[in-house]
Amino acid sequence: MKYIFVAGGVISGVGKGIASASIGKILQARGFEVTAVKIDPYVNVDAGTMNPTEHGEVFVLDDGMECDQDMGNYERFLNRDLSKINYITTGSIYLSVITRERNLEYKGKQVEVVPHIPLAVIEQINKAARHNKADIVIVEIGGTVGEYQNILFLEAVRMLKIKNPSDVALVLVSLMPTLEAGGTEIKTKPTQYAVRTLNAAGLQPDMLIARARTALDAERKNRLVLNVSLQAKDIISAPNTGNIYEVALNFEKDHLADRIMKKLNLKSRKRDLGEWRRMVRIMNSSKKTVRIGVVGKYFGSGAFTLTDSYISVLEAIKHASCNVRVKPQIEWIGSEEFERDPKQLKKLLEYDGIVIPGGFGSRGVEGKIKAIQYARTHGVPYFGLCYGMQLAVVEYARNVLHLKNAHTTEINPKTPHPVIDILPEQKEKLARNDYGGTMRLGAYPALLTSGTIAASAYGTKKISERHRHRYEVNPDYIEKIKKKGGVFSGISPDRRLMEIFELSRKVHPFFLGTQFHPEFKSRPLRPHPLFVSFMKAAAHRAGR
Ligand code: GLN
Repeated sequence: MKYIFVAGGVISGVGKGIASASIGKILQARGFEVTAVKIDPYVNVDAGTMNPTEHGEVFVLDDGMECDQDMGNYERFLNRDLSKINYITTGSIYLSVITRERNLEYKGKQVEVVPHIPLAVIEQINKAARHNKADIVIVEIGGTVGEYQNILFLEAVRMLKIKNPSDVALVLVSLMPTLEAGGTEIKTKPTQYAVRTLNAAGLQPDMLIARARTALDAERKNRLVLNVSLQAKDIISAPNTGNIYEVALNFEKDHLADRIMKKLNLKSRKRDLGEWRRMVRIMNSSKKTVRIGVVGKYFGSGAFTLTDSYISVLEAIKHASCNVRVKPQIEWIGSEEFERDPKQLKKLLEYDGIVIPGGFGSRGVEGKIKAIQYARTHGVPYFGLCYGMQLAVVEYARNVLHLKNAHTTEINPKTPHPVIDILPEQKEKLARNDYGGTMRLGAYPALLTSGTIAASAYGTKKISERHRHRYEVNPDYIEKIKKKGGVFSGISPDRRLMEIFELSRKVHPFFLGTQFHPEFKSRPLRPHPLFVSFMKAAAHRAGR
């Protein structure tokens, strides 16, 4: 088994996730089975308890793991379903070591941070590789070299490299900035320091990926060759690109796969990036613009931007757009705007489709409900994801069933019409303040009703989708909603839970909401059927 570690230099957010996923992609194209592990240096045991504006989207795996958005990048690039073993945090590693210690599994030995923590990290990486039957495991170390937080993970790399020097490669993805005032020169000095910091931890990178505005010129490369002790061919340019899926193609162009294979004694003649290349070409050349408005509230102002909060939704729209051969123009609309000034709702007419993604809590909810009502009554294609589905049901109850003040009990526990209510098994957990990893999480099956938008989109009767919620459609209102034309086109096999809500195509071009998160299963080479169906309706509107 071979290991490729990816660490970051100079600043966080240089695109290590995309770089790791792209390295995985080009090695997969050479015929290797590749898996990826993310290590996050925070103490949270998983990402589930963090606000999206704090750490970006919480991605959910089939097995219910709530993890970092990079896990979504790996799944999308590698087209593989990953499992919770593929995700490590400082918190999860300490928890496992402490649990073992309590169970006397260290047989009376003194348990120490070094070596026991790095050893536990290595053990889990090996487990992940075995579980995924991988030839190569890519391990991304979160944060930046030089931070106290990830030093134990670098120590794991060092320990592994001493034992298996020809099986371990270390890649440093580092920022080479250009000063606004200083012309166009790319500065390499901060990266030189980052490499020295790695050296101080006993590590020398095998390859350097230069994240910069443009590709490195020969002079910059030579400067790095001398200062960071690498050959020029081991320094790969990663210039800014408008399409993340292009990064893998850029790496291929710079022979990154060949160099890594050489270092790891791997041989392959295969080079199968044809389908990927074709997809990137379609994405980059589609001309017909389709405007999609995403109505939400996690438009952070700190380190994490709105793109981070809703990254899987954004990518799913891109995948479906590629399939429909249109160019998506995605715009963010803060729902609170509609609460302050309902006249603003009119601008929803300018969009070809509206998406309301997942969410929690009361801020902006009334604005979202207003937006849904507007989309429903004005024939604008509407796609609601989780909260966006629950609020569509609330809107329908209020304005079509005329149930005044109908609501979800998440926001108004005293509503006279709790059309969305807490799942019974969730009630006790909340009473115990048991918030970590306790929602209805991960993949569950659902059955589709024939003759519906959902059934025709999927082209199958049984589906499996990923969930992350505590509330659901209240069974007491199902018949009433159906009587007024609401359609529950996806239902859990025990018929208890309503998984998809839609309106007939006879009354609206596309109005559909899912209790699950379809965006988590969309892949560039396997776009999600519901997103495709939604984008087709939006493209149709755009072509009016
Ligand atoms: N807040 C809602 C619930 O807990 C929806 C969650 C979501 O959108 N992921 O059920």
